[in-house]
Formats: sequence, structure tokens, C-alpha cells
Amino acid sequence: MLAPMIIVMRGDVAPGGPAVQEVLTQAKRYPGVEAQVRTIQGATRSLTEVYLLGSTGVVPSEAFEELSGVEKVIRIRAKYRAIGRHEGQAASLGFVYNGVSFGQDTFHLMPGLCAVDNRENVETVFRTLRDLGLVTSRAGAYKPRTSPYDFQGHGKSCLPYVFELAGKYGIRVMAMEVTHESHVREIAQALSDSGHATGVMLQIGTRNAQNFELLKIVGQETELPVLYKRGMGITLDESLNACEYIASSGNHRIMFCLRGVKTNLGDPHRNFVDFAQVPVLKRLSRLPVCVDPSHSVGKRLPGEDGLSDIHHVAAQGVIAGANAVMVDVHPKPAEALCDGPQALLMEELPHFVQDMELVRKAYLERVALARKG
Ligand code: PEP
Ligand code: MN
Repeated sequence: MLAPMIIVMRGDVAPGGPAVQEVLTQAKRYPGVEAQVRTIQGATRSLTEVYLLGSTGVVPSEAFEELSGVEKVIRIRAKYRAIGRHEGQAASLGFVYNGVSFGQDTFHLMPGLCAVDNRENVETVFRTLRDLGLVTSRAGAYKPRTSPYDFQGHGKSCLPYVFELAGKYGIRVMAMEVTHESHVREIAQALSDSGHATGVMLQIGTRNAQNFELLKIVGQETELPVLYKRGMGITLDESLNACEYIASSGNHRIMFCLRGVKTNLGDPHRNFVDFAQVPVLKRLSRLPVCVDPSHSVGKRLPGEDGLSDIHHVAAQGVIAGANAVMVDVHPKPAEALCDGPQALLMEELPHFVQDMELVRKAYLERVALARKG
């Protein structure tokens, strides 16, 4: 197998600067080796790496280690070349999008509508989020449904008012599922028409988890990040390889979302909750990790202790270090055109937010305790 090498540049090195040029010149000395410069935008600083691909077997690490701008040289033998956490690679593949930072150290709540139905409900949701101090949400315009007779989403016709209202209430990033290349174009156009009132994270749904052509399309996107939802019937390894399709096509701005897997063993939940894999994902990859308790549990099931299954399951993800929680809410779930039974009520949202903040605080205290010992 061809083993790529990553030349990690020092923190103060600019991607177009002389130190990178020196690495590129050095790389040219080896026939069959292709060099690619990649910049990873973190929350506080950017990191430049030069990837050497092709016939790297004969390339000695020392030839690069001795250059002044080089911090270290990593030879990748493992899988997940682009998104994996390789030996010596500490930095997460975080990114800043529309002023919001996403990484393995950040935490966001993304409540919103499973499917956009009307302007009034979108406004109610965004206004409530604004009042709770939240800037991230979800809004489905293109809905892949099991039955062709079910509501398929309003598509591009709702984008103008969704983006306008997001701008009005300070929503900076919303996850929005796409199932076709044309959806990406329509979203980009509508965002531009709205004067970039907000930002969209392109969501790859579980049903498209191995739609490799779609993964390559969102991978070619240079502006919009991707929320990749784990495939419901495939292994974690297969889902990570799917993210590798996105990253190897050029887009490293990916958040991985667990949403449960399909098996009756999880009954009465809609899917079997897989949030035990939050720390596994953070170990194997450098991607921020999101959990979706709504599509995992699938219904509002009240708990004996006053906390619903959606609260408990979300808490399991957060206590394990999840970086985001995406959750369905609806002003009138009984009238929702999609997934009403699993949506939290608007009046339940303040409690949900408080509960998640409590659990996040506990997670950070657990980490501090572990590091001390
Ligand atoms: C969704 O988030 O609206 C959705 C359809 O999720 P999934 O692809 O995980 O079923
Ligand atoms: Mn849904």
C-alpha cells in the first residue's frame, strides 16, 4: 500500500510562505511523489500541512524534518488518511464557519424543525432559540421519505423565508439535508440571494450514508461544511470511510453525527442508540461529533424520573464528550408533516437546554479529574 506522509508545519507558518515552498521544492526531488498543501482552520489558529502522496516509500522523513518551518513528519499507514487521528497528530479537524467554531472541544445545541412546514413555525422556532441564546439549528427542506406519498419537503421554495428569518433571529448555522447535487446549488444560490443572512451545514442523511457520488459532490464544496449522519445499517468503519470520501474530495469541514442503528433490539426506540461510540469516534478521527437523540429514540416517552428518553439518551452522548446535540422541536407536533411524535415542544426547550448544559459541565469536570489523576 502507498503510505502518504504528512509534513506538519510550525504554527506560525503561512500556507503560501517560503517555508512551505521549501517543502514543495524538496518534494520535487522524488519522482512519483505529489505534494498537496492543506490548511486546517481551527478555532484559534490555522495549521498548515503538506501531504505527500504516491511513491513515498523511498522518501526519508529526515529530508523534511531538518527544514526550519517543519514541526514534524508523520507517515500514515493507517486507514482514514484525511480524517483519522494518526500518531502524533493532536489537533482536531475543527473549523470556523460563519463565525461559529466547531471542533472536538466545542459544544453546540442545534434544536430545530425536522421539516420546514410554514413560515410561522420557522419564526417561532428561531425566535425561541434567539431567546435562549442559541445560534445553531436544523431545518429540513428536502426530505427523503420512506413512502413516496409522504410529504417530501418544500424544497427550494421555502429557502428564502427560512434564510431571511434565520438572519432576523441571529441563527448563524443550520443543518439542512441534501439528497442531490441540485440541492447544494439551490442552497448556495438562496444563501447568496439572502445576502448571506445565515449559514448552512449540508446534511448527508443516513439513507445516503454510502451514496459515494453525493459524498464527492459535498466534498467538492469549498464554503459549506457537512454534517454526516452515520449509516443506519453499516459499520462505524464504513461510515468513517464515507467521511473519507468527503475529505479526500477536498472538504475537511465535517461533523460526524450518531443517530442510532436499525435493529429491533432497540425497541421500543426507533433505532438502537449508539452513543457509546462518541469517544470511539474521537479516538479514531479528528472530527467533531454530534448526536441526534430524536431520530434515535423516535418518540416522546416520559420517564418515571421526570426526564424523557430523549433527555436521557442525549445526556448519554454529552456525558461521553459529544460536541453537538441536534434535536427536533415543533410548535405543534400533532400538526407536523414529518416526525411530529419525536419533536420536543417549544415550552420543553428551556429545560432541555439547561439539562444539556448541566451534563456538559459534568463532562468537563470528568475530563479535568481524569487529567489530574
Ligand atoms: C433528519 O435528520 O431529518 C433525518 C432524516 O435523519 P436521518 O438521516 O438520521 O434519518
Ligand atoms: Mn426526521
